[in-house]
Amino acid sequence: MEFAYSLELEEIMDAEEAYDHYQHQRIRDKTAFECPNCGARVTTVNLGKLRQEMKRGVHYRLVEPHAPNCPYSAASTAGAGEGKGEASRPFKSERVDVFHLERPQATPTQRKVKPKPEAEPAEKTKEKAVAVWRAKGGTESPRNYYSISGLVSRYFQLDLASDEPDLQKIKLANWPIAYREFFCPVNEQPLDRLSGYPRIYWGKAFINQLANGDYQARFAQHLLYRGEEIKPSVYLRAEKIEQSGKSHLLKKLKDYAKSHRPEATVFVYSKPYYNKGYINLNLANFDFFDLREVEE
Ligand SMILES: [Zn+2]
Repeated sequence: MEFAYSLELEEIMDAEEAYDHYQHQRIRDKTAFECPNCGARVTTVNLGKLRQEMKRGVHYRLVEPHAPNCPYSAASTAGAGEGKGEASRPFKSERVDVFHLERPQATPTQRKVKPKPEAEPAEKTKEKAVAVWRAKGGTESPRNYYSISGLVSRYFQLDLASDEPDLQKIKLANWPIAYREFFCPVNEQPLDRLSGYPRIYWGKAFINQLANGDYQARFAQHLLYRGEEIKPSVYLRAEKIEQSGKSHLLKKLKDYAKSHRPEATVFVYSKPYYNKGYINLNLANFDFFDLREVEE
């Protein structure tokens, strides 16, 4: 199943959103989910894992069967089986996911701490959440992403080879763009032909640890600047990573730095520029960076 109701956040979300909330400690219990329709209990598989440890990505799994009259009940038996096959199913209609460049100000954790003077019964809050979700289109409603990691997972799930690849879009700053256009492999393109806007540049990269303890990710493929072949790189300040609460990322970088081969696949939301013989990609924050092993 693609969507579940989070009892902790009192919202309906897909598993990628749940993963993002878990990473930021806004969701703590992987089992605190249920079917938005019938309330069947749902757990989130791989919620506590690093992406490189997952074989099938993060996804929901039913703990108990749907109620017989639940619409998901029929849908799951007619399909390839609960959970399976959904990820690779090509989407027939246009669907636009939303990439938020900033996280919401008030975190749900703060919201929870605030006492509710007239606490509504749990069923009421869920009813409201379901109504809002249905109004936005239910299972066809857009997913909200606050880091590129969710987008990257989605990108690899989408069937981009289908005959309608441009129907899968990301909206950022109210501007829809096809996934295929938004993800730009670093692959010998002339720098001046790249988009004038930030994109997700990605590819195999070397991870180097510098003498000062910081890291550098250097793409294995080059871009061209006036005919010169230059491998673009991203500077990763260890202190900034720590401050952004992504110590798991530091650990990964450290592991990859031991290898002198480009084993990691790096994703950076940025715009490459030339400076004194180098092509750099600056990072606004670490929600705009992802690294993982991608099978080819
Ligand atoms: Zn159900």
